[in-house]
Amino acid sequence: MYIYSPIHRLNYQALTQISVKRDDLIDPYISGNKWRKLKYVLADVFANKKSHLVTFGGAYSNHLVATAACAARNELKSTAFVRGEKVTNEMLVLCQLFGMQLIFVDRESYRDKRLLYAKVFSEDPESYFIDEGGASEEAVKGCADIISEITDTYDHIFCAAGTGTTAAGLLRGINEAGLSTTLHVIPALKNGDFIAEEINNYEKDLSKLQLHVDYHFGGYAKTTPDLIDFIKNFTASTGLLIDPVYTGKMFYAIYDLINIGKLKKDANILAIHSGGLLGIMGMKEKLFT
Ligand SMILES: *Cc1c(COP(=O)(O)O)cnc(C)c1O
Repeated sequence: MYIYSPIHRLNYQALTQISVKRDDLIDPYISGNKWRKLKYVLADVFANKKSHLVTFGGAYSNHLVATAACAARNELKSTAFVRGEKVTNEMLVLCQLFGMQLIFVDRESYRDKRLLYAKVFSEDPESYFIDEGGASEEAVKGCADIISEITDTYDHIFCAAGTGTTAAGLLRGINEAGLSTTLHVIPALKNGDFIAEEINNYEKDLSKLQLHVDYHFGGYAKTTPDLIDFIKNFTASTGLLIDPVYTGKMFYAIYDLINIGKLKKDANILAIHSGGLLGIMGMKEKLFT
């Protein structure tokens, strides 16, 4: 399949020239890294003659919308176990429009995803388990493809992390291509050191990896006035939308690392725009009060 993910130059702060890999343009709903992560999963679904995608996520999960849209376009059924009490929001409305069935489960039962899946789908030979956030070996492989699309060389590549699967794929791509590029990863969650272990499950050589665990702004789905100001300013000056959960934190980190002198002003930087712009909806009250 043809995908559209060009590399654009950003001119946000004087002297710094940052390139952006526009994975956010791949698709509005199967967006960014979620498309990368589902690509080989889908191939596996067809190879195994399955017809029903079953997955997991929070009520504002980009992965749920992506899975629902992906299922609908490929004439597959989809079901999601949604963490927490029954709610509705923009994301879940989209999921349902794409025909996804939603099953709300309390936080305690949500923890054991294999058990949940077995309870409801053990008798369904057509169903296919996709982990929360799409984490899998296929997903890592799909994200490694990002590196093979890049023709210029960069000293630094930046990405945001939730599960670390995307970062694992990028690191694999860098290692396989024998590049000397450093991969900088910005965890969206607090105590993001666990991301190194997650990446290590898929990729043994971590020598090109640099984690920056201090740009979580309070944690997953949390924010601060500082981050919100940055996002508004950045978007109004560049025309590039970024989200408060992932890519906002990544771009903030890049400019902060330059401003505090940890990265050279003329460093050759590529930022992966991993999409997820619907995440803006989860913070609309906080963006404009
Ligand atoms: C889901 C998501 C991530 C996190 O990806 P992981 O592979 O789970 O680390 C990053 N950026 C955006 C925009 C996302 O939607």
